[in-house]
Amino acid sequence: MTKCTFCGRRAAYHRRYAGVFLCDRCMIRSVERRFRRSMGEHRLVSPGERVAVAVSGGKDSVACMHLLADYCRRKNCELVAVTVDEGIRGYREESLPIARENAKQLGVEHFVVSFEQAFGATLDQITTLARRKGTGLNPCTYCGVMRRSLLNQAARELDADKLATAHNLDDEVQAIMLNYVRADFSRLYRLGPSYPPREGFVPRVKPLRGIPEKEVALYALLKGIKVHLGVCPYVGGIHAEIREFLNRLEANHPNSKFMILRMFDRMRPHLAEAMPEFEMRRCEVCGEPTSSTLCKSCELLRGLGLGRKQKTLISTKST
Ligand SMILES: [Zn+2]
Ligand SMILES: [Zn+2]
Repeated sequence: MTKCTFCGRRAAYHRRYAGVFLCDRCMIRSVERRFRRSMGEHRLVSPGERVAVAVSGGKDSVACMHLLADYCRRKNCELVAVTVDEGIRGYREESLPIARENAKQLGVEHFVVSFEQAFGATLDQITTLARRKGTGLNPCTYCGVMRRSLLNQAARELDADKLATAHNLDDEVQAIMLNYVRADFSRLYRLGPSYPPREGFVPRVKPLRGIPEKEVALYALLKGIKVHLGVCPYVGGIHAEIREFLNRLEANHPNSKFMILRMFDRMRPHLAEAMPEFEMRRCEVCGEPTSSTLCKSCELLRGLGLGRKQKTLISTKST
């Protein structure tokens, strides 16, 4: 029997990059400690603040909501949950009830906003339309931009001081690499534990970005948290390639992902100097903050012959 390096009980996990074994209890404690450290180190949430957490129903977001619920209780913060229903058949209808159930169990008010209501089309329909029109953009591009815009708007309408998302170490490092490959400087700059508030944007915080995906999954499993394990049917393309590359790198050279993140965090303050200054405006159509006349989301919709439908997202009561 392999023993836990810290307490001698049966090991449940081999943390290769640190050369240690952890039992179930030490594993749970370690994830919770890292979460709290990240919240404290980067001052992600201040006492008394209202936090909106984006919850899809998958392991990361549900685990994040559980960790935040506990944190908010201690810090006298208020937590609300938002699920974006993109309209992905066979995927979202399974994960949404799980998000709702977990929120209910934690006593967290839960809201659902949908692509269909906001844009008049589901992601499935948008994907078909994009293919037919030959836009050359993949579903993840539409989904990423539009989801981000709805989450920001929902968080603003809910009067949230912070918008928490469940990006883990793997997600964050993938995003860093993707922006390198695409030479997307402003997106690269916007990655980080948090970024300075700008008008119209609810500041985003990522309390799990220092925790590997595997460990978040194991945490949810060991805590007996009910999560949706499905994989998005649209996953693929360059995102998947970068993910495979990073996993191979980590397997052959443990700690690579942490190193990439650490290096990025050290460089990031210097990137600010190179960020072009631009005036923040409001999107003509939906009112979201943007540097041009249309926000990215409305621009993508226009390219498909679609437009914004529902203006106010949070009009009804929570689910
Ligand atoms: Zn132990
Ligand atoms: Zn817009």
